Parts: sequence; C-alpha cells; structure tokens
Amino acid sequence: MIDTIHERIHAIRSKLPESVHLLAITKTVTSEVIRSAYNAGIRDFGENRIQEAIKKQNALQDLTDITWHFIGHLQSNKAKKALQCFSWIHSVDNLKLAEHLHKLAVKLKVSPLVLLQVKILPDPTKSGWHIPQLMADLPTLNNFKNLKIQGLMTIPPQGLNETQTLEIFNRTRELAVEIQSQNWSHIQMKNLSMGMSGDYHLAIQAGTTMVRLGTILFGERS
Ligand SMILES: *Cc1c(COP(=O)(O)O)cnc(C)c1O
Repeated sequence: MIDTIHERIHAIRSKLPESVHLLAITKTVTSEVIRSAYNAGIRDFGENRIQEAIKKQNALQDLTDITWHFIGHLQSNKAKKALQCFSWIHSVDNLKLAEHLHKLAVKLKVSPLVLLQVKILPDPTKSGWHIPQLMADLPTLNNFKNLKIQGLMTIPPQGLNETQTLEIFNRTRELAVEIQSQNWSHIQMKNLSMGMSGDYHLAIQAGTTMVRLGTILFGERS
C-alpha cells in the first residue's frame, strides 16, 4: 500500500509542470496514509470536513511543515474552526461567508489565504459565485483586508465532456485575468485551484496552479 502511494505520487508528479502545486485530498483517508504521502514528499493536504480534519491534524502534529487546505462547503458555525486549523480556504463561495470570515479573522488576528469559488455554468449541486454577482461583490471583497484573496477555485458540473470541461477551466482563468487587470489593492488572482483526478489533465492545459487530487493517489473512496 505504502509503495503504491509513493509510486502514484511520483507518477503524477512527473506529469505536472513545475508551476502546478499538487494538493493531496485526504477526506476519508487515515492519518497513517497521510503520513506515507508526506514521506513521499507531499506537503499540501486538503480536507472537506472540519471535525475529520482536526482529528487527523492532531495525530500528525509532529509534521510541522504541512500546509492544510480547506476545500469543502463551509458553514458559518464552522468558520472559526476553519480559520484556526487551515492556512488556505479554497471554498469561499458567497459574500456573506466572506464577511463572516473577515470579521472572525480580525478578531483572531489571522490572515487566511482564500480562494473564491466560482460557478461558470449553473449547477444546483454546487455552491459558488456566478460571474455577474462576483463582479458586483469585488469592491466589498476588496475591503476585507484580513482575507488574503489569492485567486479562484472551480469544480465543473458532472457529466460534461472534455471539451466542455476545458472550456470551464479556460473561462475561469480568463475571469481571474480580468479581475487581476482591475488592480484591486487587496485581491490577488494569481492562483487557480482547478483539476481533480478525472480532469486535472484538462486543468493543466488551461493553466491551473493547484490540482486537488484524491482518488488517483489513494484509490476509490468507499
Ligand atoms: C473530493 C474532492 C477532490 C478530490 O477528488 P478526486 O476526484 O478524488 O480527485 C477535489 N476537490 C474537492 C472540492 C473535493 O471535494
């Protein structure tokens, strides 16, 4: 098992351009398996449930150079825990949540790195900003100085073909470029969190900077 993880990580690494960060998504994966991924060189780990993540973080406290990324839908009653336990939040998906996180961040004196989750196509199964709403909210987001906004995150709807998926990723990159060109003082758009096990090859074509890989590293989740 451990050999397999090492092998899988090295195989994926060899396919990624140097500019692309590999995040291991470890939801449902044990802390022992996370440790073997760490030993294979992974330093960035993503989780989508706060309680599950905290348990594993406690078991891995000796690995002090891990960067933890929160990638799940964040409920406001979990926002404080998220700020305490994660350096990055990829899934800031509406203005109300951003405002709540900002207030808490000021109180806790932290400056989380955040990504804004966008929906390029309507998708009832996902949260995220639609483009017009995001554009309208940028002036307010720019005032949330404790949130270090770093870019965009997206998850394409299920059931698209490769051309359509590539289109979503390209559109997301173009949107980031457009926002970056507006020169906001507190919004950076240099990171794109796009690409999962089934579509990361397309995300790479579209210029992603962070791929979030679970299944391809750790096998199917039960
Ligand atoms: C589970 C999950 C992933 C990883 O998905 P795989 O298909 O297993 O690689 C990536 N991003 C998010 C937001 C997830 O919830």
